[in-house]
Amino acid sequence: MVEAVLDQQAWRSRADAVAWDVRPFVDGALRESHAAERFAVRDPATGAVLHEVAAGDARDVAAAVASARAAFDDGRWSGLGVLTRKALLEAFIDAVVAQAEELALLDSLEIGKPISAALFDAQVLSPMFGRFCVESVDRLFGVVANTEPEVLAFSVAEPRGVVGAITPWNFPLVNAIIKVAPALAAGNTIVLKPSELAAASAVRLARIAVEAGLPPGVLNVVPGLGRTVGQALASHDDVDMLSFTGSTATGRLLMRSAGASNGKPLLLECGGKSPAVVFADADDLGAVARHICAEALHNQGQVCVSRSRVIVQDSIKGALLEALVEAARAYQPGDPLDPATGFGPLASREQWLRARDLILAGASQGHGPVLGDLTALSSHGGADMAPFVFSDLGRDNPLWREEVFGPVIVLESFSTPVQALALANDTAYGLAATVWTRDLSLGQAMARGIRAGEVTVRATAAEYEGPGFVLPQEGRKGSGFGSETGVEGLRSYTTWKKVEFHTARLA
Ligand code: NAD
Repeated sequence: MVEAVLDQQAWRSRADAVAWDVRPFVDGALRESHAAERFAVRDPATGAVLHEVAAGDARDVAAAVASARAAFDDGRWSGLGVLTRKALLEAFIDAVVAQAEELALLDSLEIGKPISAALFDAQVLSPMFGRFCVESVDRLFGVVANTEPEVLAFSVAEPRGVVGAITPWNFPLVNAIIKVAPALAAGNTIVLKPSELAAASAVRLARIAVEAGLPPGVLNVVPGLGRTVGQALASHDDVDMLSFTGSTATGRLLMRSAGASNGKPLLLECGGKSPAVVFADADDLGAVARHICAEALHNQGQVCVSRSRVIVQDSIKGALLEALVEAARAYQPGDPLDPATGFGPLASREQWLRARDLILAGASQGHGPVLGDLTALSSHGGADMAPFVFSDLGRDNPLWREEVFGPVIVLESFSTPVQALALANDTAYGLAATVWTRDLSLGQAMARGIRAGEVTVRATAAEYEGPGFVLPQEGRKGSGFGSETGVEGLRSYTTWKKVEFHTARLA
């Protein structure tokens, strides 16, 4: 987390002074939505209405797509020299960092994200990803084929054209950057539809882009609802690609919309129910438990790769459960605007109710939690939720099977590695996994056997920087498909063309 320079009082004063303006940003300026319907966005920490947003409609989307189409077709972006495009994107990312406090505050207020975490997103994570995309432009190579000397045959990765992007609320700014940076770096133009819960930072981002020198029409943002704006974007015949992050159910709907319209290709980053598998040789169970909690409870558990299923070898089950309960107890909801807060409320009352219903359904089919207060769930009126830990609920229990997207850890035990692998793969999802063992042969077998897009084998809870965004990864099963990282992430936003020159022989 980034150390916030402002204190709680200063953030509160700034929060009171925010001038909310969450309108469509199309062709370089804020516009009025065509839709009359409006909805309120509330601060989940207080329940207070922050501002109202138009629900948006197909006319808003049509205007934004027309703007992106014109900007793509006239070459004001795709026709730029690569050095110029990179310089403009770098200026854009610098401007995001310069306005990180404003951007972080918007995210913090709209979804209750602790301000220190929101600052980390704006000052560290977003620019890190954005800069990786800018650097990757130089690695988008085609190949030259081996041919007769009179033939020159090569492949070129061209931008797809107009990209439609739809994002969720859990990391509003980061999710926006993860779509915008690779799409623009590869030479596309974009229409972004952020989550209805948290659209303010995305609209601000579009303004920052134009102020930083990106031509108008290159980055357009249409706030609004999924069933209005999202649906219209996914069904639009002039959108050349749809890049989505969100739930598996919505992702599958979008596949239908894409198929029923122009057959646009999709990149889908959907839900997860990722495991942390702990073998008996794992070192220092206290450190392991703290690390598992950090991975499962970060952002109040509202993270797609949250390791929310703990799968533990039976000989250490009691010890690990005890350590997990102790570690999870430390996560207590605080005021998101207090820089010392590391754990806030859930993103909305609706998200709280969804998580509550799943917890009650799971508990009613199994038994009570080892940590967590079920009675507090019936009386509570806000969005705060302290962590729950459940053990031995069984593999049919909804808390084992379904993504809660809240602070809930479920634990099951195994005796052999084969059973561990079966439990790890006992899910409709396949995003991520962690395997705790010092036996690297066992770790290798597990890493290759787990059907997920990323697996970390840990002999230690020590923190390393790791590879950043250099390596590609791709969801399995219900978690979607297509890579957003690595050079392959940029490549997702391009399409191959084969070009041949057949030239005359010298006489
Ligand atoms: P969601 O699917 O409800 O909404 C995501 C986006 O889709 C929002 O912008 C929403 O307005 C839009 N949408 C909803 N219905 C639509 C429709 N019918 N047509 C078009 N657009 C529609 O998801 P959420 O609740 O915002 O986010 C939580 C989900 O996102 C979780 O499942 C989580 O795992 C997933 N997620 C995945 C990743 C990843 O990288 N794999 C990252 C973050 C979140």
